[in-house]
Amino acid sequence: MPCRIFCDNGTVSETRILDVALLPGDGIGPDVIAEAVKVLRAAEARMSGYKFAFTEYSVGAGEFLKSGDPLPEATFEKIRKHEVILLGAMGLPGIRWPNGNEMVPQIDLRDKLDTYFGLRPIKLYHPLDSPLRTPGAIDFAIVRENCEGLFASRKQTFDLNGPEVRDTLLITRAGSERLFRRSFKLASARRKKVTLVDKANVLPTMSYFRGIFDGVAKEFPDVETDRVYVDAVTLYLLSRPTSYDVLVTENMFGDILSDMAAGIVGGMGMAPSGDIGDTHAIFQPSHGSAPDIAGKGIANPAATILSAAMMLEWYELPETKKAARWIYQAVETLFTDRANRCPDLGGSLKTWEMGDKIASLVARG
Ligand code: ATP
Repeated sequence: MPCRIFCDNGTVSETRILDVALLPGDGIGPDVIAEAVKVLRAAEARMSGYKFAFTEYSVGAGEFLKSGDPLPEATFEKIRKHEVILLGAMGLPGIRWPNGNEMVPQIDLRDKLDTYFGLRPIKLYHPLDSPLRTPGAIDFAIVRENCEGLFASRKQTFDLNGPEVRDTLLITRAGSERLFRRSFKLASARRKKVTLVDKANVLPTMSYFRGIFDGVAKEFPDVETDRVYVDAVTLYLLSRPTSYDVLVTENMFGDILSDMAAGIVGGMGMAPSGDIGDTHAIFQPSHGSAPDIAGKGIANPAATILSAAMMLEWYELPETKKAARWIYQAVETLFTDRANRCPDLGGSLKTWEMGDKIASLVARG
């Protein structure tokens, strides 16, 4: 369990430290992280026996401008000592590698820490925040494989002027089995349905992926399964989003689908995520650094605050699970009033005002 225990001499009280690496990053990252920390501090004041210890690290395009490396090895070595990371957003469009690719230390971290299970909950807090006419109670989770798939060849060297370039979609048996097992366990604790999203009618890698899914499914006879092609699911997520519980897919499909799914619950400011592995977990909003609104104080911090709640759930301690529920409840309460919105959802709240409101709801209980 990721806690260090300190006992005060002469007293029976004991405080456990929840040790978190904070990586605010670039663009709107620092703004939304500040609000998540504010809300976590409000939860901490009500939690019994736990305190947070946040250690901040500079990673991202800003760090590249300072040191020439967006994720310096020495910084990474310090970060890996923390089991839990709370991350803002990284990368800026104008700061790129010589081959034109954007710097993505957040993806490098997933690879280096093997956080293969990309969990992206999609929940609608108010029907009027959805562009759908009759959205219903949208509440599903996309699981994105984080370390293989079509992103596997992202680091290959290539010749921009050569006759062709190929990207390889990598599916391994071990990587898929661990992904599917965790997805089934997740569904077992939810509405007991897992939908595999693939392209098994065209791509051999995807037929292989489906075969592995079918094998793992036999271990979970209580969980209903479904298989759907990635093109079809984009339609179904718009026409009947409430029919899904857990959707699991490869890296690139998951990347695309999770942005689309965020769109039906109000946009990127409402989409939290957790990149979970066997030794580390990284929690961050699904959105990027949003350079178009950076520095304006109008970023919606809800996705990051909800990611912080996911982090509290991840500890699997009764007290942190309780604190996660306080945050979910506070967000739910806040969003019942249509006036409580940042500009992305048609409101006028500043980033810090939404953070204050959620923190005070958490503090009040
Ligand atoms: P990345 O590729 O790094 O994920 P992206 O290119 O998909 O990033 P984002 O930075 O996620 O882009 O931004 C997409 C759009 O969503 C932009 O118009 C941005 O302003 C908006 N957006 C993203 N996050 C938020 C937020 N927290 N609050 C309000 N708007 C946001």
